Amino acid sequence: MAIIKTKFIWMDGKFVKWKDAKVHILTHAIHYGSAVFEGIHSYKADDGTAIFRLDDHLDRLFHSANALSMKLKFTKKQLKDAIKNLIKINKVSDAYIRPVVYYGYGNIGVFPKDVPTNVAIITVPWEHYYSTNLRIMISKYARHSEKSSVFGAKISGNYANSILAMYEVRKKCFDEALMLDLNGYVAEGPAENIFLVKNRTLITPNSRSALPGITRKSILKISRDIGIRAYERKVTIKEVKNADELFFCGTATEIAPVISIDNKKIGNGKVGEITSKTKDKYYNIVRGKDKKYSKWLTYVE
Ligand code: PMP
Repeated sequence: MAIIKTKFIWMDGKFVKWKDAKVHILTHAIHYGSAVFEGIHSYKADDGTAIFRLDDHLDRLFHSANALSMKLKFTKKQLKDAIKNLIKINKVSDAYIRPVVYYGYGNIGVFPKDVPTNVAIITVPWEHYYSTNLRIMISKYARHSEKSSVFGAKISGNYANSILAMYEVRKKCFDEALMLDLNGYVAEGPAENIFLVKNRTLITPNSRSALPGITRKSILKISRDIGIRAYERKVTIKEVKNADELFFCGTATEIAPVISIDNKKIGNGKVGEITSKTKDKYYNIVRGKDKKYSKWLTYVE
């Protein structure tokens, strides 16, 4: 999605004007991908602007920063307040929130000795990441395994792997990639998790090469409310190709139906009933219409 500018970006405790939010070219993260980040979504809900599962996202941010031995100068509470204040002063509501923690300026070597840890937060207005149903292709690039990265950490450098897969499939005119793990089981998309529906049951890969997504976790929980069984286990290529329904999910992506894979139609090639039901339920929750899940929302007063 194209960037829609807002007035301010939060950088290390200060609200900096959009045009002044710059870093030095020797910033360690630019050279080595030594940054960690989150993608968080706020919604215009009935009772105000609501941030979806903010605590879970910040917990993952700290887990990621810890994986790279970063020393954050801010507590979770401080970052939470910074996010809420930034949303207020930028006057956004349906927004994508991007906190990024990065090794800054201080040393040109790979090992970030004496390199400071900086933090920035960006909020941009946001609608839907994908506006069409997706035609996807299985990538030749395997997703990182626990042998090459840290499970559950959203490390910027890992996304070079996603970019390779996206270029590979976009050059062949597909919308999105599906990535496997090193054992050939289905892992996830370049920036989203995947669910398949078979015989009215939702199944998502338990691959340790997939990010344990917060949307995925939410879907596993809410599925019960719509009378659908959902669980995680190993998933093969054959199973995704023969699924009744298929969809990607993630904070930015939300729930994006997949209608074909490697040019093979999924189900009847249309958005399936269970995908639609899950999507409706999810939108009701994030917009504060389902009070059962109000604990997942942090309101910006
Ligand atoms: N996998 C990857 C690689 C991602 O970047 C994302 C987006 N954060 C996801 C899955 C989905 O995670 P979440 O639902 O927490 O946004």
